Amino acid sequence: MRTIFESMEHAAAIGIGGHVRPDGDCVGSCLALCYYLKKKYPNKKVDVYLEYVQDEFLFLPNSSLVKQTIDGSEKPVYDLFFALDSGDLDRLGFSEPLFHNAGRTVNIDHHITNQGFADINFIKPEASSTCEVLMDLLERDLLDTDLATCLYLGMIHDTGVFKHSNTTRHTMELAAVLISYDVPFSKIIDETFYQKTYLQNQILGRCLLESFMVLEGKCVVSYVKKETMDFYGAGSKDLDGVVDQLRVTKGVEVAILIHETGPLVHKVSMRSNHDVDVSAVAKQYGGGGHVKAAGCTVYGTIYDVINNITVHIEEQLKKLDTLRS
Ligand code: 5GP
Ligand code: MN
Repeated sequence: MRTIFESMEHAAAIGIGGHVRPDGDCVGSCLALCYYLKKKYPNKKVDVYLEYVQDEFLFLPNSSLVKQTIDGSEKPVYDLFFALDSGDLDRLGFSEPLFHNAGRTVNIDHHITNQGFADINFIKPEASSTCEVLMDLLERDLLDTDLATCLYLGMIHDTGVFKHSNTTRHTMELAAVLISYDVPFSKIIDETFYQKTYLQNQILGRCLLESFMVLEGKCVVSYVKKETMDFYGAGSKDLDGVVDQLRVTKGVEVAILIHETGPLVHKVSMRSNHDVDVSAVAKQYGGGGHVKAAGCTVYGTIYDVINNITVHIEEQLKKLDTLRS
């Protein structure tokens, strides 16, 4: 099998796609790879496809070149196409046809549920982030402030600024290398991770206010209707961090945020504090993720969604002997 580096050398046109509702690790890894390829091969065509880039990530290099649609009626054909941070092929969303059309495909990811859908697969479930997997693949001598900034951003977003249990010694060692390239880390952490718009805070407040406990207080659930989101003029990216705030409720094993995205369509985000495997629950509904952070789309009424998801959580809590009854 040709190595990833040989494939890069031979490709004249390279495409990069991340997952739908791109988060920090997704945007960071896509723009890191784009920057790296453009620096190493200035004459190659390198395009990045993402559904959107959140305002707070627009300071990253090449963010203004990101394509949010496929140009023209003829789909561009890439010699090499990278799927980054995407646990499933359909997570690529609008860029999936480009993956199918490409001469050769590479899948770089850290989702435990990733089955390895490309010609070349680098899947490291033990890695904190796709940025971590990517940094281990790339030649270090091309590191500079811009490249290090992209990689660092992805790491802090997927580790919750190095506090989630996916943070390892290796993660910290890589981060140490990155900050030595003068990454403005305090600013990046404040402005991309902690800072919220007024609107985001309002929605967060509403979700917390309307949350309720089930399963003997071991599970907290909140639900946001489409009409509420429309009222605030908010999009799903404005819900980032809400489920993480629910998770830190004292006594809770699992936090669930349900977001109505269409008639009888609900996006479910789950977080686990200890032993419940939420990726196993997400998988039951065609979703995926990590043991402690996973998501899926569930069809049905909100009552169906709550009942169905919590039954799976209850089963696991019972197996773990966490429930009294
Ligand atoms: P979040 O709850 O923040 O949307 O996602 C948590 C984790 O689960 C992320 O790593 C995300 O990529 C993954 N995830 C969320 N929704 C889905 C989904 O519908 N399918 C798959 N395969 N993974 C998902
Ligand atoms: Mn990730």
